[in-house]
Amino acid sequence: MTVLLTEDSAVAKVAGPKAAVLLEKNKGIRTVGDLFEYLPRSYVATNTLTDMSTLREGQTVLVVAQVAKAVTKPLRRSPRQKMLVATLTDGQNQIDLTFFKAWGHQAKLVPGVVGIFVGAVSRFNGRWQLTHPEYEILGSDLDGWDVGPEGRLDTVSRLDHYREHRIPVYSETGNVSSLKIRTMVELAFDSVETVREPLPDDVRERRGLLGRRAALELVHRPRLEDDTEVGVERLRYDEAFVLQAILAQRRKSIEAMEATARMPRAGGLLASFDARLPFELTAGQRAIGETLTEELARSRPMHRLLQGEVGSGKTVVALRAMLAVIDAGGQAALLAPTEVLAMQHQRSISAMLGDLAMGGQLGGADIGTRVVLLTGSQPTAVRRSALNDAVTGDAGIVVGTHALIQEHVAFHDLALVVVDEQHRFGVEQRDALREKGRTPPHLLVMTATPIPRTVAMTVFGDMETSTLRELPAGRSPIQTHVVETSKPAWVERTWQRIAEEVGKGHQAYVVCPKIGDPADPSAADDVEVEPPPDDDGASGAAGEVASRELTGVYDMAERLRAVPSLTGLRIEVLHGRLDPDVKDRTMRAFAAGEIDVLVSTTVIEVGVDVANASVMVVMDADRFGISQLHQLRGRVGRGGVPGLCLLLTEAPEGTPARERLDAVAGTTDGFELARRDLELRREGDVLGARQSGRASSVRFLRMGNPHDAQIIADAREDATAVVDLDPTLAGHPDLAARVAARLDEEQAAYLERG
Ligand code: ADP
Ligand code: MG
Repeated sequence: MTVLLTEDSAVAKVAGPKAAVLLEKNKGIRTVGDLFEYLPRSYVATNTLTDMSTLREGQTVLVVAQVAKAVTKPLRRSPRQKMLVATLTDGQNQIDLTFFKAWGHQAKLVPGVVGIFVGAVSRFNGRWQLTHPEYEILGSDLDGWDVGPEGRLDTVSRLDHYREHRIPVYSETGNVSSLKIRTMVELAFDSVETVREPLPDDVRERRGLLGRRAALELVHRPRLEDDTEVGVERLRYDEAFVLQAILAQRRKSIEAMEATARMPRAGGLLASFDARLPFELTAGQRAIGETLTEELARSRPMHRLLQGEVGSGKTVVALRAMLAVIDAGGQAALLAPTEVLAMQHQRSISAMLGDLAMGGQLGGADIGTRVVLLTGSQPTAVRRSALNDAVTGDAGIVVGTHALIQEHVAFHDLALVVVDEQHRFGVEQRDALREKGRTPPHLLVMTATPIPRTVAMTVFGDMETSTLRELPAGRSPIQTHVVETSKPAWVERTWQRIAEEVGKGHQAYVVCPKIGDPADPSAADDVEVEPPPDDDGASGAAGEVASRELTGVYDMAERLRAVPSLTGLRIEVLHGRLDPDVKDRTMRAFAAGEIDVLVSTTVIEVGVDVANASVMVVMDADRFGISQLHQLRGRVGRGGVPGLCLLLTEAPEGTPARERLDAVAGTTDGFELARRDLELRREGDVLGARQSGRASSVRFLRMGNPHDAQIIADAREDATAVVDLDPTLAGHPDLAARVAARLDEEQAAYLERG
């Protein structure tokens, strides 16, 4: 019975309806093609059966043995559930098998049967144990099995069909065991006649790559140890190639757009602004400024990423570009990821512009314009007036959160969109903003997160990049230390440092991972911190950390108020769920020096700029990712005062969590940290929606790996050439199909995120 299937066939065709539901729900496997891309977690070489007399803790074993006895008993924690413990023997040595759900196993694992068992052994109560092993029953009794001179089973002769390859071990899900998955994959290979080949033949030949089907077979049915790597290498290339084909198409479509050229104007706002700048632009700011001016004056939309460390002066660069387009009769929109940041941008831009931002007002400059704020939670009247200023063009600059993207927001002539801290925004959101122009506006994306080459070529692969490498003169270094909370004296010293800084007239941030609002304890978004990457799957340790009570801002504020050395200090809280008015008032008060210690969540992470703040304490610092900590500490040391950042943690030395903190304490080089972050992070996560703002994530490429950076670069070259000759990919149907599938996936993930 061979049914002919394609990669698009529902996975149920090879998995059956029940398993198909689980595979889709837990692993996102919907089609046979998805199943092909579900790679084994590991392999067991079957030419080396494990000797049961010499086991090591944690060793992955492959044993052939007989079930000596099997008992089911109620699970202590939930007595209605039955667990199964069976004992295996090879005639001399024993291993216990444990299944927390007996169901489905108790009928198979009956005394007398002989099977092949695969799993990792552990020591439990002085006995060897395999928990939930993969297994297959080979025979129902010992008939036909030879018992060797030592009284042990002679299993070798019966294992011929196993001996010829390495057994793939898949992560199981629900009751879909590795073995079941293996059977499905086998059936899929038997039923799918042709696997799509997205790579053009010449590319494949030039890069010395296998066919896609051959590669998949090597991955799922390797014979030699190196087979897997050879197969996966091809899958990596595929993934990079499809991604790059999408990016090449995107670049092409942007190139084809007609933008309005915004010509610089002598004697305009930009010139006046430059004339009154209280500092010299750095060489980098000047050079990038020139690039921007040039690109804004072209009739094709600018599409540029501006990266630079926190405080490197990106905002000033962006503001100058905004002024240039206003001079040319257009408007600029500045999109910020949070309300706090939007408010702060509006405030600081207005302050920098002075009377230039008082267009139409008494005392305003003749050539002046207006900077308005648009957020989701403004009072209606304020909002209506801002909307009006946007649509009439009275406001040259409209600053806002994603409220800017909403349908009823219209501009007179939107010329430039600046997106701050892009990693929070999706490509779809940028596109939505772009549609608000009469012609597609120019786009400038600013990010303070240094972007490694792999990510620059993928996540931001449709943009040109500029980097501000130097910090403006007068910046002070930030000292970072890890403080172990198990040492009370160190913690005490931490509070003292706050007191000392405040004593010198400076201010402090204390950042907590959650809000812990006593008035609203059950709020779902209580925890504002982004979870750090999985610590190399050591679920025991991670689970422990996760269950620990995290410090909330309200508790923290109370705790600080009770610290003797901090008596009399003005301590306030700030977090994302406060009323926007309160948020704004608190930020203003902090900026004005009316608050000494601001206890907050990560709402201050991006862009908040209070030069007088000199110390930051981060509670439960191990709950934050590397890049996030680096962003956070960039809030201090901005005003010519040396900055101090203290990372409080329970994580003992040597743990992965602690390693991240030590990395942050060890360097202030953002690029170096971004690299470490990639290394320590689970690969798939790197492009995860959370970090990149895009739905795309990679499955096979390792973003922290230089070899894969080369794969991406090669694929970029190849895909660009293909798309140049055939922009719609009409001549490459298999590639077009994979591109479409990938775009669908991104779209689906985007919609899910909302
Ligand atoms: P970023 O957006 O990259 O974090 P900003 O543009 O907000 O940096 O600049 C941070 C601070 O440095 C601001 O107070 C800004 O006024 C100041 N600044 C920017 N450029 C310069 C410069 N060339 N010289 C001195 N100070 C500068
Ligand atoms: Mg900034």
